[in-house]
Amino acid sequence: MRCPLCNSEMQEGGLVIDGVAPGWVPLEQFQKRGLHRLVHTGLRTIGKTSILLRQTKVSNAFFCARCNKIIGVFDVTNALEV
Ligand SMILES: [Zn+2]
Repeated sequence: MRCPLCNSEMQEGGLVIDGVAPGWVPLEQFQKRGLHRLVHTGLRTIGKTSILLRQTKVSNAFFCARCNKIIGVFDVTNALEV
């Protein structure tokens, strides 16, 4: 995959997250403050979690050495809320 910022070839890899259920939320949810930040709606989880290892692996993460950025194309793994 080519970097959308500089067009260099990117190195394919994956994310390893020390914990469970990493996810994406809409911006207004992401910017919540105080105790409200503990509860999110619209969460889209990603990755495959091992409860035993308390680790989640997410594939399709690409690293651009030139921009020093990681860009991902992640599959959503939970059921979508309407
Ligand atoms: Zn780049």
